[in-house]
Amino acid sequence: MPTCRDMSELVTDYLERAVSIRRRLDMWWHLVRCEACRRYYDQMRRTVRLLGSASPSPPDSGTEESVLAATRGEQRRDP
Ligand SMILES: [Zn+2]
Repeated sequence: MPTCRDMSELVTDYLERAVSIRRRLDMWWHLVRCEACRRYYDQMRRTVRLLGSASPSPPDSGTEESVLAATRGEQRRDP
């Protein structure tokens, strides 16, 4: 079970889904029980959302990657 201090450090990773499922579960339990961290988490979630909308991510990056992967695959198949 993470402490409140752990939570403040982990909440960003949690929002970015960069923590393991086990860790997420522990953190979720902490959030359920700890109002201070719940407030902090809500705040961070809003901030991340605001940042996300303020800086548009390139919409084609995922497509580009899959196209590149497909190209590499074809090159491998076709000598
Ligand atoms: Zn807490």
